[in-house]
Amino acid sequence: MSREDSPLVREVSPDEGYTYMHRAFLHAFLTHSVMTVDEVKPILATVMTAKNPDRPWTAGDVTAPHITSTLQTINAKLSSYDFEIRSTKDQHTKLTLYALVNKTSDALTQLATKFSPAEIAYIRRVLDAMFETNNTHTREVMALKHTEASNLARPRRNRQSQINADEDATQTTDAGISIPEADLVLTSLVHSSFLQKSRAQYFSLAPRALMELRGYLKETYNDPPFSDDPVIRIRDCEGCREIVTHGIRCNNRECGVRWHDACASSYYRGRGGGNRKCPSCDKECTGDAYVGERADKVARGSTGGRRSAVEVEEEEGSE
Ligand SMILES: [Zn+2]
Ligand SMILES: [Zn+2]
Repeated sequence: MSREDSPLVREVSPDEGYTYMHRAFLHAFLTHSVMTVDEVKPILATVMTAKNPDRPWTAGDVTAPHITSTLQTINAKLSSYDFEIRSTKDQHTKLTLYALVNKTSDALTQLATKFSPAEIAYIRRVLDAMFETNNTHTREVMALKHTEASNLARPRRNRQSQINADEDATQTTDAGISIPEADLVLTSLVHSSFLQKSRAQYFSLAPRALMELRGYLKETYNDPPFSDDPVIRIRDCEGCREIVTHGIRCNNRECGVRWHDACASSYYRGRGGGNRKCPSCDKECTGDAYVGERADKVARGSTGGRRSAVEVEEEEGSE
């Protein structure tokens, strides 16, 4: 019996091209939450070799179109389950990354299998701190220090609720979690590639979370489009149209243009050295109005003299 006639293949044959090969590849995504191109290639080569052992594949045989077509077939199969394999470019390393993500609008609900309701509420407070408290018109940090994250373990109570504390005692309010419990949540989120911690100890969303929460972040933190004077806290890169949480902003504070460092570099390189005018408002782009933790360092450093972009650049980087 040839491989093509095997019951396994026949079983899946009605699903137009989706074979055990795709299933094996999908399985790799279930065990590795995020993979780079260099990690994807050998897995795909192994899967292709298993399909036809007479013609072994090496990682070098796997091309970008091959990866794309394999993922398209898998995604067609996954679409009815609200899952999808997405790709993005890491904002720091610029590497292409792939992840299996949940497409439901509130992707935080999927964390409910892993975390208690009090822990989920804590994660929401961490996100609110990243994208509201630490993401203002003048200071787009979109990250928070470990101490700030610890301080969110217990929800902040307003004065009125403290005055009424005795009356409230019977009410079921979120009492929060302890700081050690909060630390465990953070460690677990870093471990599952949801959060990343920089060398300067800032927590920010890792590429996988940005892929999964793309819709959620915009729905939660941006005013609906076409509303009067909408507040837009989450913006896409002018170059690649992915969310920017680490990059630069237009020097004009009223302008909505944001860039990843690499996307801005390639755009302005393409226009010749001298021309660094913003494509939207024409303001000269100096490249030192930051989005991300560098924005916080510039803000903090400003009392003791503004530090140069190079100094800030040297301190940053992911662990
Ligand atoms: Zn970009
Ligand atoms: Zn501009």
